[in-house]
Amino acid sequence: MDKQTFTPVTFGYLRREAKWLHLYCTVCGHDREFDVSQPPFAHMTDSTVVPTLGQSMVCSNCGTKGKVWSVPEFHGALPETRKRWRQLRD
Ligand SMILES: [Zn+2]
Repeated sequence: MDKQTFTPVTFGYLRREAKWLHLYCTVCGHDREFDVSQPPFAHMTDSTVVPTLGQSMVCSNCGTKGKVWSVPEFHGALPETRKRWRQLRD
């Protein structure tokens, strides 16, 4: 794949490659991993673009809408991702 090209991540890609979606609230820091083949994401079509999802999500911890990051997550990589984000914040 051409490195210059950015292809939006879709649920089809997630199901094939990552299997997990990591949602992260930029307001309170609440985060959680979801298996994309399970509810509430099981009904998403393969062509649904993942980055648009966070704009309509409400954080289950602080209730803020539209500040949730959604990131494809390879199972088991969450601790590493948390570490990266902590470094970004500090
Ligand atoms: Zn929150």
